[in-house]
Amino acid sequence: MTIHAYAAQEIGGKLEPFEYNPGSLNGEEVEIDVEYCGICHSDLSMLDNEWQMSQYPFVPGHEVVGKIAAVGDRVENFRVGQTVGLGWFANSCMKCEWCSTGDNNLCADGEGTIVGRHGGFADKVRAHAGWVFPLPDNIDPAKAGPLFCGGITVFSPIVQFDVKPTDRVAVIGVGGLGHLAIQFLKAWGCEVTAFSTSPEKEDEARKLGASHFINVKEEGALEAVASRFDFIISTVSADLDWVSYINALRPKGRLHIVGVAPNPLSFGVFPLLAGQKQVSASPTGSPHTIEQMLDFTARHGIETMTEMFPMSEVNAAMDRLRNGKPRYRIVLQR
Ligand code: NAP
Ligand code: ZN
Ligand code: ZN
Repeated sequence: MTIHAYAAQEIGGKLEPFEYNPGSLNGEEVEIDVEYCGICHSDLSMLDNEWQMSQYPFVPGHEVVGKIAAVGDRVENFRVGQTVGLGWFANSCMKCEWCSTGDNNLCADGEGTIVGRHGGFADKVRAHAGWVFPLPDNIDPAKAGPLFCGGITVFSPIVQFDVKPTDRVAVIGVGGLGHLAIQFLKAWGCEVTAFSTSPEKEDEARKLGASHFINVKEEGALEAVASRFDFIISTVSADLDWVSYINALRPKGRLHIVGVAPNPLSFGVFPLLAGQKQVSASPTGSPHTIEQMLDFTARHGIETMTEMFPMSEVNAAMDRLRNGKPRYRIVLQR
C-alpha cells in the first residue's frame, strides 16, 4: 500500500510529490481518505523548523476532513465511508492521568499529526481512532477542516477558563484562528473587540461578530482601552507589546496566548500583581471539547471563511499564507 503525499525534503523546501508505505494498520488506528485539508500557520512554522521538531521528508497538514477508508481490528466506533475530521493530535497514550480524565491534549506522549508522522497533504492519513471525530451532517465538509485545529484551539480556552456571556473579550489577530475566535465568542454572548494590524479587515471582522475594531498600529490605540477586557486571546504568530495587552485587562482578567510568539514573553510582576491578572497558554483542545465545539458550531451556524486551492497547488497556497493574504483560511481540495 502506498500513500501519495506532498513533502519538503529540507527546511523551508518546496512541497513535492512524495510516496511512502505506511505499513500495516495499527489495531487502534483508522485510515482516512483525505478530501480536504486546511492550512494552519503551524504547518508553515513546522515546514521552516521554527520549533526545532520537524523531520524531513516533512508532510504538513493537520486540518483534515475525509472519509474513513479502513479501520484497525480493535476500532468499533467507525465504519468505512463515514465522514470524519482530524486535527493537530493523531495519538496520545490513552492511559496516563491526563488521558484517562479526558485532557488527552495534555498527554506528555501526545503525537502531533505532523510531528514524527506524515500529515494530511496526501491522499490518505492515519490516526488513533480516539483523535478522529465524526463530522455532524449540518457542517459543510469543505469548510470543516479548519475547525479541527484552528477552531478547537480558540474554542477550548472559552470552556477551560469559564468565559462568561457577560464578559467583554478581545481577539488579537484576525486570521485563521482569529476569525473563528470572533465567531465563537460572539455566539457565546460576549462583547467582542478585534485587535488587528490590517484596517482593511474591519468590515469583515464586524460581520463575523466584532462590535469594536482596533487598528493596533494607530498611536495610542491600546492605551485607549486600558482596563477594558475580562479575557483577551492572542492568535498572533509574532511578538507583541504584552504589557499593553495586560494593561487592557480589567482586574482578574486573563491574557490567553495560543499564537506561537517566537521570543520569550517579557513583563514585570506589577502589571499582573496590581489587578491579580493571569497570563496563560494552551494546546488545541481535548477530544470531548472538540465534540462540544462541533455541536456548538453546527447549532450557531458558524462557518470558516475559506479560500479553496487544489492540493496540486499547495506551494502557491503556502506562499499566500506566508504573505499574510488568506481571508481567512486556505483549504486544499484533493
Ligand atoms: P494566520 O492565519 O497567519 O493568522 C495570524 C494573524 O496574526 C494574521 O492574520 C494577522 O492578523 C496577525 N499577525 C500576523 N503577523 C503579525 C505581526 N507581526 N504583528 C501583529 N499581528 C500579526 O495564522 P493562524 O493559522 O491563525 O495561526 C496563528 C498562530 O497560532 C500561529 O502561531 C500558529 O502556529 C498558532 N497555533 C497554535 C495552536 C495551539 O494549539 N496553541 C494551534 C493552531 C495554531 P491581522 O491582519 O488582523 O493583524
Ligand atoms: Zn494548527
Ligand atoms: Zn496520556
